[in-house]
Amino acid sequence: MRIGVLGGGQLAQMLALAGHPLGLRLEFIDPSAEACAASVAVQHQAAFDDLEALLRLAERVDCITYEFENVPSRSLEFLAPRCTVYPPLAALALGQDRLQENSLFRQLDIATPDFVAIDGLDDLQRGMDQIGLPALLKIRREGYDGKGQAVIRQPQDAAAAWAAIGQRAAILEALVPFEREVSIIAARHPGGEVRCYPLTENTHRQGILSRSIARPDDPMQPLAEEYIGRLLERLDYVGVLALELFQLGDRLLANEFAPRVHNSGHWTLNGAETSQFENHLRAVAGLPLGSPRALGPSAMLNCIGRMPPAAEVLTIEGAHLHDYGKQGRPGRKLGHINLSAPDGAALEQALAQAEAILQKGA
Ligand code: AMP
Repeated sequence: MRIGVLGGGQLAQMLALAGHPLGLRLEFIDPSAEACAASVAVQHQAAFDDLEALLRLAERVDCITYEFENVPSRSLEFLAPRCTVYPPLAALALGQDRLQENSLFRQLDIATPDFVAIDGLDDLQRGMDQIGLPALLKIRREGYDGKGQAVIRQPQDAAAAWAAIGQRAAILEALVPFEREVSIIAARHPGGEVRCYPLTENTHRQGILSRSIARPDDPMQPLAEEYIGRLLERLDYVGVLALELFQLGDRLLANEFAPRVHNSGHWTLNGAETSQFENHLRAVAGLPLGSPRALGPSAMLNCIGRMPPAAEVLTIEGAHLHDYGKQGRPGRKLGHINLSAPDGAALEQALAQAEAILQKGA
């Protein structure tokens, strides 16, 4: 079976590696001459809106999926009548617009930070009265890793914030004093079966995910499962989806969802019975899903800007290194370290060792 992917970054690379033992072969479209998935899958070098290239891919594969959410939705609309496309188009379209995304959460009774749509400075004045300060102004489309956002602490910051986001259609969101950022990842089969991974606790640095920790039996697991279950069902979803949440006391507030495999699920490559990558492929290929159970406490540390020396990382008991083979550049995700341990204390120790190695070259 052949699976087509839009995008050829590390997510496509890890999908290709996960598919290989199952006999699933990946072919992807990416305009870049340096797409890192090219080392393990067939690349069709073309733009994401190149209809001829899309058509050629559709003719060669059994099903098409995508690895990033800024794929032009028009490209998926073009593909959908010609080939099976999973996850469904609606999930991509809703996930590309923060206003629609938050509105969907609200419809599904999934708690979110207070928010309001902003189309101009007048709206912003009214929005600040409605939501209160501090608040976060976020562009509706194409923001990622904290880009296209401006914090407003005082009413007089409004004009500068509006200018900072390029005067684009936005939402104003209450700035939440969260205790933890967490995410839940789940896979849904075309037949409707849902399998949820353990909740992951995430830490960001400069808007970029730096580490994820999955501890089995997190007390917030049932609520997170309820929320993601509602979302998957409403979207008639197929594949893996990630839902990012803020924890405030015993509440979870949804921040955003990603209709794809997610960085906070990379620990599953070594720490779960079935990785998120394998389960995504099983879902889109219509194969039975595998167990998402964690093998024990697990963690992931991103290698950002530079890779640490493999010979040092691998001295850590329970460590696995994943090097995407990308050129180093500040702020770029080049690889990650997965850590598994028999108990929480051993995991903390392994994390401290790995952090120290990552810090050394920073
Ligand atoms: P996002 O691009 O929406 O994922 O935002 C990037 C990061 O900004 C998040 O991981 C949070 O750390 C922070 N953030 C986003 N929205 C809020 C909010 N409403 N309140 C507090 N922090 C937020």
